[in-house]
Amino acid sequence: MTFDRRIFNFAAGPATLPEEVLKQAADEMLNWQGLGTSVMEISHRSKEFMAVYEETLQDLRTLMNIPDSYEILLLQGGGLGQNAAIPMNLMPLAKYGPKADFIVTGVWSEKSFKEAQKYGTANLAATSAAERFNTIPSRSTWKLSSDAAYVHYCANETIGGVEIFSVPQTGDVPVVCDMSSHILSRPVDVSQYGVIYAGAQKNIGPAGLTIVIVREDLIGQTIAGTPTMFDYKIHADNDSMYNTPATYGIYMAGLVFKWLKAKGGLAAMEKINIEKSALLYDYLDASDFYHSPIALENRSRMNIPFTLKDAALDEAFLKQAQETGLLQLKGHKLVGGMRASIYNAMPIEGVKALIEFMKSFAIANA
Ligand code: PMP
Repeated sequence: MTFDRRIFNFAAGPATLPEEVLKQAADEMLNWQGLGTSVMEISHRSKEFMAVYEETLQDLRTLMNIPDSYEILLLQGGGLGQNAAIPMNLMPLAKYGPKADFIVTGVWSEKSFKEAQKYGTANLAATSAAERFNTIPSRSTWKLSSDAAYVHYCANETIGGVEIFSVPQTGDVPVVCDMSSHILSRPVDVSQYGVIYAGAQKNIGPAGLTIVIVREDLIGQTIAGTPTMFDYKIHADNDSMYNTPATYGIYMAGLVFKWLKAKGGLAAMEKINIEKSALLYDYLDASDFYHSPIALENRSRMNIPFTLKDAALDEAFLKQAQETGLLQLKGHKLVGGMRASIYNAMPIEGVKALIEFMKSFAIANA
């Protein structure tokens, strides 16, 4: 299938990017800043690229209101790389030997929990596995340990579609959050976290860039054998240029940050994200044909899984959606059904077009 226009892309990541950003990147591709070359062909240490790098960091700091006592590292290796880097850098801070607590609410936090077991004691403080990850275990059931180096959770489970909206209160124990799939979708109070990390390919830019926001006092110790490339201190001391950073990803992230600022920042994004997700959830709840399996209070604003009343219709739904210009709605293979990922860059018109299609499909297949 080919299109002569831009379609609505509901992919979970790599995901849709703002059209204005893509147009600017296209316009600048062959001759960036009058240099007669693209941005990805120049040295990461050139003064032109360094200016982009500094501005990108500053714009992220402004957007998220990141205090000066936090380092922003622009790394590679994805969210899954951080599943190893975080225990390697933080577990030595535990009182009596390497240890951390994990809140497991879906596929991604479960991966974090499992990876951490290689580096120390990973305590399963809470899990919603028995509820098929359709809900968040209530706070009163969490078995946090007082001697953990940190508590890890994933605030938005991209596959299951559950989101945790308030920061866990853990006393002196730093909170580590995987924000891969909701970073920049709403304001967060960075000062309540020890580490925030996210792969860029959902709400930030192309795949290949990983953002780590880490409180300075947590940097410096690593477990024996930590690869140099996973040592936060090395990256912090070298302004994320110990090795060649993902320069094009940083440039694109910079354009997205400027786009977000022009849109009114994260408070404005939250408002529109509430509006977009409510449109779809309200329709799902009113329909006998479609169903959302997620507990009301834990519904993600970014990733919305849903099922059809008869799974035998799934294939026809996806085929007709694609013909209508609504792409990548297939649910993750672990949960089946459909999933609409509606990150910052998905315009409200895309959500409305999806609902219109869903209505007509339901009528035709009633
Ligand atoms: N965490 C979350 C919440 C994710 O959605 C993903 C990827 N879909 C990851 C971690 C893994 O990220 P990466 O593929 O960048 O390693």
